[in-house]
Parts: sequence; C-alpha cells; structure tokens
Amino acid sequence: MDDKYSILKKYFGYSGFREGQEVLIDSILSGWDVLGIMPTGAGKSICYQVPALLMSGITLVVSPLISLMKDQVQALNQAGIHAAYINSSLSESQISKALRLAAAGQYKIIYVAPERLETYEFLQFARFAEISMLTVDEAHCISQWGQDFRPSYLKIVQFIRSLDVRPVVSAFTATATERVKEDIVCVLGLLDPCVLVTGFDRKNLYFAVETIRKKDGYVMQYVQEHRQESGIIYCATRKNVDTVCEKLLAQGILATKYHAGLSAQERRQNQEDFIYDLCPVMVATNAFGMGIDKSNVRYVIHYNMPQSLENYYQEAGRAGRDGERAECILLYNAQDVAVNRYLIECKEPNPDSTWEEIEQIRERDMQRLRVMNYYCITPDCLREYILRYFGERRSGRCENCLNCAREYETIDVTPAAEKIIACIRECRQRYGINVVAGILAGETRAKLREYGVFDYVSYGSLKELGESAIKTVIQQMLMEGLLTVTNDKYALLKIPAAADEILQGRRQVIWKKAKAQPQSAENKRTSSSSKMRKSDILNSKGLELFERLRALRTEIAKEEGMPPYIIFSDKTLVDMCVKAPLDKSEMMQVTGVGENKYDRYGERFLAAIVEYTGGVREKYYFGETPELAGVPAPGQSNKPAPAAKGKKTDFYLTKEQAAAFPYTEQYLVAELAEKLNELRDADTTKKISGAEIFRRMQALEYAGEAFQDGIRKKYVTDKGMAAGLLIGMRISKKGTEYEDIYYKEDAQRMVVEMVTDAAVDSGC
Ligand code: ADP
Repeated sequence: MDDKYSILKKYFGYSGFREGQEVLIDSILSGWDVLGIMPTGAGKSICYQVPALLMSGITLVVSPLISLMKDQVQALNQAGIHAAYINSSLSESQISKALRLAAAGQYKIIYVAPERLETYEFLQFARFAEISMLTVDEAHCISQWGQDFRPSYLKIVQFIRSLDVRPVVSAFTATATERVKEDIVCVLGLLDPCVLVTGFDRKNLYFAVETIRKKDGYVMQYVQEHRQESGIIYCATRKNVDTVCEKLLAQGILATKYHAGLSAQERRQNQEDFIYDLCPVMVATNAFGMGIDKSNVRYVIHYNMPQSLENYYQEAGRAGRDGERAECILLYNAQDVAVNRYLIECKEPNPDSTWEEIEQIRERDMQRLRVMNYYCITPDCLREYILRYFGERRSGRCENCLNCAREYETIDVTPAAEKIIACIRECRQRYGINVVAGILAGETRAKLREYGVFDYVSYGSLKELGESAIKTVIQQMLMEGLLTVTNDKYALLKIPAAADEILQGRRQVIWKKAKAQPQSAENKRTSSSSKMRKSDILNSKGLELFERLRALRTEIAKEEGMPPYIIFSDKTLVDMCVKAPLDKSEMMQVTGVGENKYDRYGERFLAAIVEYTGGVREKYYFGETPELAGVPAPGQSNKPAPAAKGKKTDFYLTKEQAAAFPYTEQYLVAELAEKLNELRDADTTKKISGAEIFRRMQALEYAGEAFQDGIRKKYVTDKGMAAGLLIGMRISKKGTEYEDIYYKEDAQRMVVEMVTDAAVDSGC
C-alpha cells in the first residue's frame, strides 16, 4: 500500500519533504482545504501531486499558464504518472478525446485553463467524474488587488458550486500580501482552510546590485565567465535586447532573444531554443518568463532596474528553481529611475477607470518605483530588504548578498543633512533631487541659472562633498523618512515633521559608505548559509563527469523531444557525480531518481558513470584517473602533460609521425587505433585504445550508445556522418550479424588531427 513517502520516492525520487509540504499534504488527505503560500522553487507542485496520487478520484489543476501546463504534464508522464492538459492550444477534437479518456479514468491529474471550466463539454465530463481535488495554481490571480488579476479565475468558484460533490480545494501562490491572501480564501470560498506561509526567502539565490556605467562590458564578461551555464538577461527596452543579444552572439555566446517586437513564431522558436538549452542565454524584455519553468537557470541579470520590487523578485526568482545556487544581479544606474518614472507617466490608463483611480494607481506605481530604487542604493542586506518589504521580519545579515560581503565605513553626515533641509526650505520645496543637489554642490548648469538659484544662501554650501555624494545623502534621508517626495512625475523634495529631529539635535544621519569592492567574484561569495556551487562540491573529475552526464542528457532530450531538465535536473546530475553510483540500488539513492525515471534512463546514466570511473569509485574520488577522453578545447595543445620520470605520457603524435598515417577507404575503430599506435614513440607514449577514440566521438556528439531491447548499440549522429563516420554490418565469429562504426578517410583525418600536437613541432 502506497503512502506519501513511498509516492515521493517512487515517482519523484526524493527521500524527504521540504518545509511546509508535509503539513499541506496531510491536511489535504484529511479532507481540509488548504492555501499554500510558498516562494518560487519551494516545491508547491509536490503538495498537490502527491495527495492526488493517494486520492481515489481525479485532481483538476487550474492554471493560467498554458505553456507551463505542457511542461508539468510532460514531467509527470516522465515520472510515470498519467496526466493530461486541456487548454486552447489543443484542437476541439483533441479536447474531446482528452475528456473521453479522462472520463474513462485514464488520468489522475488534469491541468485545465480557467476558461475551459464553463464549457458545456467540460461541465458534462465533470458531472459524471469523481473529482477528489481541485487545485488552484497561481491563486493570487483571483484577487483584484494583485498585479495579475484574471477575471477568468472567478469562473472557478461557479464551477465548484456546480459540482454535486464538493472536492477538496487547494490553492497555491508565491506572491500574496495580506489583502490578496484574504481574497483567495474569501473569493474561492475555502472552508476553514489550513493556511501555510513558508516565507519568501530563496536561500539559494545570491543578490547583488552593481552600480556601473558600462553595463555591456559587465554583461559580456559575466556571461563569458559562466559559459557553461544557462541565464536570463532582462532589459527594459527591445532596443537594448537587440544590442545585448547581438554583442553576445558576436562573442560566440549561444544567445537568443525575446520581446514583443518579434513574430509569434520567432518568440516560440527562441523560447524553445532556450528551454532545450540549444541557446542557454536568453536576452529578453519582461514579456518573457511567465510560464517558464526552466529549473537550471543559474543567473538572472537585470540590465535595467525594473519598476517594482514585486516584478524584480518574480523575474529574479526564475533563477535556481532547482534549489541549486544561482545569482541575481541588478545593474543600476540612476538614469533607470528617470526612464521608469517616464514609463509610468506614459502608461495607458484603463479606459473604465475614473480620474481618481488613475491617479491612485499612478501614485502606487511611483511608490513601488521608489521602493525599487532604494533597493538599489541601500547599503544594508539586500535579502533583508526584500523580505522586509514582503512583510517578513528578519534581523541581521544574510551573508549571501553583495552588501553583506562589502565593507563599509560609517560617516556622520548630520551637518550635511541640516544643510540639505535648509536648501529645500530655501527652494520652498519646489524642486527635485537633481536641482537640490546641484544647488548645494554649486553647479553652474543652464537649468540652475534659469531657476535663478545662484544667489541662494545654500548655493555651493556642500561643494566639498560633491553632487553625487549629496544625492546619496538625500537618498539615505528619503529611505529613513527624514525627507519625502511627491508622487507625481516631478518627485519634489518635501520636509516631513520627522526632519525636526535632526534640526533639534535628536537624530543623527549616518552614511554607510562602501569601501572598495571585493576583488574577485569569488570573494563576494563568502557565505556559510548559501548553497554551494557545483564547482565547490565537485572536484575536476566530478566536473568532467558532470559534463558527460549533461551531454548524455542533451542527447536523450533530443531523442525524446523534451527539455533536458525534465529528464533529470542539474541537481540530480550533481548528486550522481557526488555519489558515483555503480549499480541500480546505488542509483536509486540519488535525489530525483524515481522508479520510472530509473527504468527509462537509469541504465544509460549508470553506463556512463561506470565507463568514466572505470567501475572503481576510489580511483574516481582520490586520483589515478582512468584515461580521460577529454577533447581539448580549441587552441589547446593535444599533447598531454609531461609524465613523471620513467612513466609514459598519454597518447599523442608529433606532426611528422602523423604525416606517415596510412589513410585508406575505411577502418574499424580497433584498426584505426592499431595504425595510430604503430606510429607513436613506444618508449615514451602510452597506447590509445579503440574505446578511447569512441569516447572522443561521443564527447563531440558524433556517435553514441543506446539501449535497444536490452542490448547496447552504437550509433552515429548526423553530425558524425558529416564528419565521415558510418554504421556498417559485420558478422561475428559465431555468424551473427551486428552493427559497428566505420571511420572513412575524413574521419581518420579528424582523429589523426585530434591526437597530433601541432604546437610541439612548430617550436612554440
Ligand atoms: P514551485 O512550484 O514552488 O515554484 P516546483 O514545484 O516547481 O516549485 O519545485 C521546484 C523544484 O524543487 C522542482 O525541481 C522539484 O522537483 C523540487 N522539489 C520539490 N519538492 C522536493 C523535495 N521534497 N525534495 C527535493 N526536491 C524537491
């Protein structure tokens, strides 16, 4: 008899529940409605998928994200769970067929778009089906107070009412203020629900704000340094998207782009290229991301500051959904604030709104922008800033953000603050930060002349501080509520009552000034609480094995037409490299390897691990590498490092030796290895084996091995054929036919070149 633990292991390959999951699952299984408020990546899906498999009837999952449904259903099918989706991406006949199968009990979980709930066909199906649970994903869409209100979500309530037997209702969201939370409970009509808020902290995310002018240079360098990783770069405008993407492409980075100016077909294609890791870097406007569930996004860079912290946290939160370490970097420059203010001003109002409502919305947007801006300039812990905004009380530093890694000096700027207040007063509170700072710094800009401020007492009174530092102090005072700004487009500085505390000597203003930045990127990450990076966990052999397993995953993903992360997550691959399982029972201990996944892919991954480790874990862990089939990077010497005295080096040929290679129409791999070995210096160089040559072909994705009917078979890819590899029939000594790979002349030349060390002979 299955229970929640065995379901978790069998289908999902996990051996324990995460925070909050068990409570919600237990409540659902006891028949209670639930509301789970958990951050992105916390594992909300498991909270309804596990009970769905333990309940007798069907679970309907209402979701607004059509693209996500396909992903979720694919992932469930991969895990061996019968699931389907019904939305407008299917034709009418496909929908009818899916409903027919659903009525016949084919599916345990059905994802459905809210619009479908009121169609006649669906209602007919629902009347006769046993629906045990109705799950509302992205439940905040039901609230008119949230940013993503969807009127279609109101149909869910009518649908529940229309059912003869009310199912358990479970609702999940990642974003919910008190108001939205109340709305979900109320509008959805949850009955005395178990409400669980796990907190918004995403511990695996590292946060940083970099104040820089040359953003392009930063992005190019960062992406170059993270070449192996997948990331998203968000830009505010289409033009920025185009130029950043072009520059990345010019540097040989596999990047793609997404914005509303591209055709639907282009957007779809580019999105797919990203999801399938064909182009691991996506440059996009904020139009990209809803419904993207790519779990191995290792970084999200914001080229421009977004308009609100809500938007920022949601977009940045697309990093590290697999729970592995990921970085969220915001590139800030003060101009972003002006651009955003302008965009808010230009926003088309809802034609049905009254003038007051439009004003209210604009004010709220300006307020959000301010909060976002303060995030960019605060010297305090960035994580704490975010969490405090979302209503979570925390104290202290997270040690996993740039600000926690920075060193600061504290400067008492109370006298400067007094002068700032005096200046604003002298201006009769008619100017914004640029003019006030300009006056205090004694700037001579035409605009200041036009305003006639040169005669002010305050003019030049903080000259020694400089305009930029004055602005920083003003920002600091704004953050502390010692100054305020109007909510209109002019953002005029005003003096609140709280400022009296400074003037009366009851309050100091302290400026935390950052000392020089930490030198290297690695220095920034001193965290003990942060999750480790792959390179912290794996040694060089582990990393090489990881790359091989990743290549195998890509190959399988291509074969199956599925995103690689649905086969296995990066986290699972890392765990494979750590545990280096050599048989089925060991493989089943790897996180993310459930029974069904093992049956589908386990053998292939095991074979790759056994091959790489030579079946001896100690060697893999502690040295004496099995000969590695590493294909040298372009420009790298093929010659192995010189061997210790008396020991032979790994196989290589000099240019002269290579020139003597006897090319012929075709060789089998063993013959090719034999011919190569005849040319080497046998006293100093080890032999190369056929297996080694084949491994190199695999690493280049020219050839591979697959299990067919329980037999391991070699195959040649299209790329391999183009390079001169060929599958041919052979007859064994026992007379049975089998397939083998032949190396035509082109392929022979490629292999010879690969093992020839040009650098040595050219005297470099
Ligand atoms: P959310 O919907 O909250 O954003 P997901 O349901 O997509 O998060 O889960 C995020 C990732 O965490 C997925 O890769 C999922 O398989 C994994 N996960 C969920 N629960 C667990 C668990 N108990 N142990 C390990 N990994 C888990």
